[in-house]
This record gives sequence, structure tokens and C-alpha cells, in this order.
Amino acid sequence: MKDVPELARLNRGKSVTALAYEAKIGEGNYNIGWLRLLRLHPRERFFWWRMMRDAIPTNEWLARRNLADTDQCPWGCGMEENRAHCTIHCMKLKQVTACLAEWGFYMPEPNSFEDMICSLKGLARDNPSLGRIFCYTVYQTWRARNALKHGRSFGTPKVIAATVLSQIPKSFCMPQMEQWCINQPIGLPTNHLWCTPPPNWLKVNFDAALTSSNRAGLGLVVRDDMGRLVVASGRFIEHWDPIQAELKAALAFAELIDDWMYDREGLIVEGDSSEAVKWLQEIYQPASGLHRMVDGPDLSFLSKFRQVIFQHIPRLSNRPADFCAKHALLGDFIWLDVTSSLIPLTFVELVTEESDRA
Ligand SMILES: [Zn+2]
Repeated sequence: MKDVPELARLNRGKSVTALAYEAKIGEGNYNIGWLRLLRLHPRERFFWWRMMRDAIPTNEWLARRNLADTDQCPWGCGMEENRAHCTIHCMKLKQVTACLAEWGFYMPEPNSFEDMICSLKGLARDNPSLGRIFCYTVYQTWRARNALKHGRSFGTPKVIAATVLSQIPKSFCMPQMEQWCINQPIGLPTNHLWCTPPPNWLKVNFDAALTSSNRAGLGLVVRDDMGRLVVASGRFIEHWDPIQAELKAALAFAELIDDWMYDREGLIVEGDSSEAVKWLQEIYQPASGLHRMVDGPDLSFLSKFRQVIFQHIPRLSNRPADFCAKHALLGDFIWLDVTSSLIPLTFVELVTEESDRA
């Protein structure tokens, strides 16, 4: 009947429950702390947490518990629907990732669930934006699958892929394409080509050209989801810093905005200077505080768009913008209509070539 001390908490801060869990399950099996690096929305995070714990009611999962008559994938893939199927092999998922690839977002192509986890872990560390897009893609495909199973309507792969991009938290949109490609050379196109944006989106390509006499040409090309030219512009300024000039080139878009552009689903802003793209992304993140700098670059005009994704692309995919930047050294211009005789033929050819390929 004496008072005895009771263990409530170890000095390392672990609760008794956590200690008991660790003793029973083992820490190794529960090591998914890296998932936090992806900063998913709670809904998507919970989904992925369940995925890791094999707690997603796939048909195989249900059949194992005698809760379903079939373990096959409801999309008609002719395969058992388990978590590896939902995250890697499913035909529907592949159709969605193919749409994303058409727009320039290349997803990992692992062979097994363990492989996929390994890729995702790598992405969480090196390229969280692309990891995030992958997580959202699997989640949105799973939602569509539930809609199919319960007789509700669901979107085409293109609609699902566009939903993925529109759902990504606005301030975290900057997949680093090149970095991903270095890690995963297999299964990717050998040369990175310019891609059209998703339906009803706009794509802005920017570039700057500097001369040794501190003159800079700023080039901008805005195109729609069919690869058609909306507007191209060039501006001539005095400048000596390449990154600042690149930033100015991107910001020059503010002067080209028409009201109808805000009604579009989103905007992809692409440049071949990784530093400039990184800067834009950092300034754009409200948490950075950089956007509040009085004399800093002003990106507030972008906040009116529904979604903005910054993307770093190889120089070869940015040729029309590069052309405009160089052409701007001769003087300012704005081109609206590719059929106009005022536009140099080389530029028209570059744009047509890219839209044909895309
Ligand atoms: Zn399937």
C-alpha cells in the first residue's frame, strides 16, 4: 500500500506508449519521418501514411479479409490491386503520369514498392516539389478509382493530372527537372524538349542576353496549351549582373498581363538559369519574407493567378526566349501575331517547331 514511482516518460522525451510501440513493432518499421519533408496537405499525408502502413483498402487488401469478391484492379488492368499496383503499375496511374510528362513533369518509374519508397525518399531530400507531385498523382488516381468503384463520375487522365497540379500548395511549386533527370536517366527522353502546359494554362519562358558592354536584352515568350504564341516581347536595359537580368526578364511579364490571363487555371514560368528560378521561388514563398522587402523585386502581380509553378529547364528548351533576348539588344519590341511580317522568320520557325513537337 506504499506509493511507488511510475514510469511516465523517459528523459529522452519518449512517452510510455512510444516506448511500448517501439519494443513491439521496432523503430525500423516505422521510420517514415522523411515523409514530412514533402510537406503534403493533411489529406494527402494521411493517405500516404496509410499507404506505408499497408492500410489502404485495395481490392487485394479487402479480399484478404474476405470483404471483397475480387482482388483485381477495378480499372481492368487484369492484375491484383495491391499497394504496389496503386503506386506503380496501374494503367490508370500510368496514363496520368504520361499526361504530366507531356507537360514536362517526369515521374519516377520504379519496379517495386520498396523501389518506389526509395525513390520517394530520395526526392523528399533532393527534389521535394517533384516528390510532392508524385504523391498527389497517386492520391488523385486513388480518388478517381474510388469514384469509379462507387459509381460516381471521375475525370479523364488529363483532368486528373491537371487536378494534381492545381492542388499543389501554391508556394511549393518548383520541381527541379535536371536534378531529377541526373538521378534517373532511364526511361526519360534523351533531350528535354519544350512542353505545352496543361489545358487552359499558360506558359511563360524568359531569358536574358548580356553583352560585355553592360547591355542586357530581356526576352519573354508566352504561349497557350496548344503551343500557340500569345505574346513575345523584348526589352533592352543597362545591366551587368546575369542573375538580376534574368530576374528582370521574368518580371517583365507583369507588363504583358491581360485580364483574361487571370481566368486561366495556372501559369508555368520557365527559365534556363537555375539561380534565377530558385530566387523567384524563394521570393514567391510568403514564409521567406523576401517579398516584403521594399526595394526587392515585386512578385505580387503573380498572386492573382490561381496557380504558379516555376520550372528550371535546359537551355535547349528555351530557344525562342533566348532569341527574343538577343533580338532585344537591337531595340524593344512586342510581337502578338505570328503571321505578321514584322516578326523574324527564325523566331516563327522556332515557335512552330516547338509547338509541332509538343
Ligand atoms: Zn490498375
